Amino acid sequence: VNRIVIKIGTSSLIHPSGKVNFSGIDQLAFVLTDLNNQGKEIILVSSGAIGVGMDKLRMTERPTTIPEQQAVAAVGQSELMHFYNQRFLAYNQQTAQVLMTRDIVDYPESRKNAINTLEQLLSMNIIPIINENDAVAVDELDHLTKFGDNDELSAIVSQMLDADLLIMLSDIDGFYSDNPNKNKEAILYSTISAITKETMAQAGESAGSKFGTGGMISKLKAAKRILDAQSAMVLANGKPPRIIFDILDGKEVGTLFK
Ligand code: ADP
Repeated sequence: VNRIVIKIGTSSLIHPSGKVNFSGIDQLAFVLTDLNNQGKEIILVSSGAIGVGMDKLRMTERPTTIPEQQAVAAVGQSELMHFYNQRFLAYNQQTAQVLMTRDIVDYPESRKNAINTLEQLLSMNIIPIINENDAVAVDELDHLTKFGDNDELSAIVSQMLDADLLIMLSDIDGFYSDNPNKNKEAILYSTISAITKETMAQAGESAGSKFGTGGMISKLKAAKRILDAQSAMVLANGKPPRIIFDILDGKEVGTLFK
């Protein structure tokens, strides 16, 4: 496994209190820098702009209107990059911010440009930190500029860069037979090789966390995209990000989609 896309969800970056999880961000920077130093090519897809923006602006409720959400995302995105830059620089690792909208990856010309930029960054040993350009992408129903969410974006980025593995870090240990927060009997799957209607039904109606969007359904859709491309994805618990070492060591953690 040489080229790895890591997607980190809001729940791994923001504490339930709404405060930024600095130890999580620091450990992520440490782990990703170490992997880069081992010669692996690392791409980070990070959510969290709205959560960080809410913390910075001392908001306790997620804003409801789209202009408000976009404004908070714009504040939070630069603040989030500030935290990443600080922590990665502590380990001597350069990073770069790349903000995407769906039209960029849908139009061949701009898609090629985005790929060229990302390839160039990787060849310069720089870790690209990708997010959707929330401040300008319109709403969830606008399929021209908007991705469904960062789960989908991370799968698209994996395809664009022909990555060997997508590691999706969430607040749950993997994919279960039912939502384990509601059903204590749910069992954790170690491997899933196809996404069927039955698989989708097991994700139920998961709206996702207070600060994030996704939910399990969007993770399964991303997994389907990865499986269709004959690649692999691991869904695991991002608390703590150190788990990435275990995944790459082949330890039995999370759910492998392959
Ligand atoms: P993130 O913010 O990290 O992207 P989400 O909150 O969007 O994570 O999605 C993870 C959540 O999906 C879990 O916390 C859980 O409540 C829910 N969920 C629903 N069905 C399942 C399932 N079958 N297996 C695991 N988690 C599930």
